[in-house]
Amino acid sequence: MTSTDVGILGIGAGPANLALAVALEELAPELAADTLLVEQSENTVWQRGLLIPWAQSQVSFLKDLATLRNPRSRFTFVNYLHETGRLDDFMSLGTFTPYRSEISDYLRWVAGSLERVRVQYSRRAVRIEPVRDASGALAHWQVGFSDGSTVRARHLVVAGGRDPRIPQPFRGLPAERVIHSSEYSVRIADLPRDVPQRIAVIGGAQSAVEMVQAVQEALPTCSPVLVVRGIGLTPYVSSKFTGRFYSAAASEEFFGMTAQGRDLVLGEMARSNYSGVTPELLDSLYHQMYRDRLDGKEGLRVLTATEVVAAAEDEDGVLLTLRDRGTGAESELRCDRVLLGTGYDPAMPAVVRDLAERLGLPGGPEVTRSYRVRTAEDDGDHARLYLQGVNEATHGIADSLLSTMAVRAADIVGDLVSAAGE
Ligand SMILES: Cc1cc2nc3c(=O)[nH]c(=O)nc-3n(C[C@H](O)[C@H](O)[C@H](O)COP(=O)(O)OP(=O)(O)OC[C@H]3O[C@@H](n4cnc5c(N)ncnc54)[C@H](O)[C@@H]3O)c2cc1C
Repeated sequence: MTSTDVGILGIGAGPANLALAVALEELAPELAADTLLVEQSENTVWQRGLLIPWAQSQVSFLKDLATLRNPRSRFTFVNYLHETGRLDDFMSLGTFTPYRSEISDYLRWVAGSLERVRVQYSRRAVRIEPVRDASGALAHWQVGFSDGSTVRARHLVVAGGRDPRIPQPFRGLPAERVIHSSEYSVRIADLPRDVPQRIAVIGGAQSAVEMVQAVQEALPTCSPVLVVRGIGLTPYVSSKFTGRFYSAAASEEFFGMTAQGRDLVLGEMARSNYSGVTPELLDSLYHQMYRDRLDGKEGLRVLTATEVVAAAEDEDGVLLTLRDRGTGAESELRCDRVLLGTGYDPAMPAVVRDLAERLGLPGGPEVTRSYRVRTAEDDGDHARLYLQGVNEATHGIADSLLSTMAVRAADIVGDLVSAAGE
């Protein structure tokens, strides 16, 4: 068993903590040299679970890990294109939204270009212990890993993403029958390509529709059914006037709002980020279904205003009980696999809830404007804890996205620098 001491430990080397690493290298090089990021996977891959070749990012490449904080940074997406020899070709593509795989490669390039911050892979943090000194103030964090090793860190930045949402009816099914979108690309590759499979895809938003398209390419003999709670698939609702809510300035504004103000904004913005599908993907799906009918093929079926009320496994696979939300009538659907496009749990991830309990914060963590968790002693504490990507309730609709990461990282670095001066 090994143990390491670091000044700053980042859990997760996804875009949020990589943006932090970049900001530390540029704004606080001494702190950067004492920073370690630990990542449970063996490499840096963005959205490993839905890394579908044709899928594109939904935000502008200008919202990379650095540009909005420092357009002259060497870590910008434009510099990545320049260094990998694709700047001209990307311009000819004429888009602001790169392929998801290209963003993923950009993140890998950033991780490999860091000069001071260290990144260690295949290290899964399994336990975080707050350690107090004799006065009761938080002195440091003791983080345990699945291989038995530990890291002692003065400050901790948790950016592990959100927990997948598995609706109640599917929780009792055997794991091999259920594939959540967060593991789609990895698990679908393990299924035999030419064995006919009955596939039920659950959900009416982007991830469900991406899976229903992709599974027909991955398993050409499958017969998919898309089960949608709403009355039909609809596009994201946004406009040039509401786009500003995806900016760092809006996070600042949102943080200063009353609870009612925050509810108003999140309520009105919900359809710009959740429960929608890109217009291009909707179009492509509709054309596909139309062509199938033209060719007399059964093809994809879409069941709208339908919810799954029960799911059970028997000798013939999985039996789903469906309820028509219009008539209340129940029916059955048989399948071999259930693909869940049911999104992510809006609550704090389990690892953060567990830590909040250890910190004696039974109501859950509350963060400052600088994303620092308010602890019981707060200013008396020597060790700080920051959360990235899970603060939609206090910092607005963009918090889980790439949109504000570059600027958010600078906010956290500013707070860390103030701690270093204490
Ligand atoms: C399919 C999909 C498409 C998306 N497309 C967009 C988009 O186009 N634009 C956009 O802005 N946002 C998009 N998002 C939102 C996405 O959440 C953000 O873009 C971004 O990935 C969030 O970064 P993060 O670093 O906070 O979390 P993540 O990207 O989830 O990264 C967290 C990292 O932490 C690691 N980790 C977790 N737990 C541990 C642990 N215990 N120990 C060690 N490592 C751990 C994970 O392996 C992962 O690498 C998309 C999300 C999904 C699911």
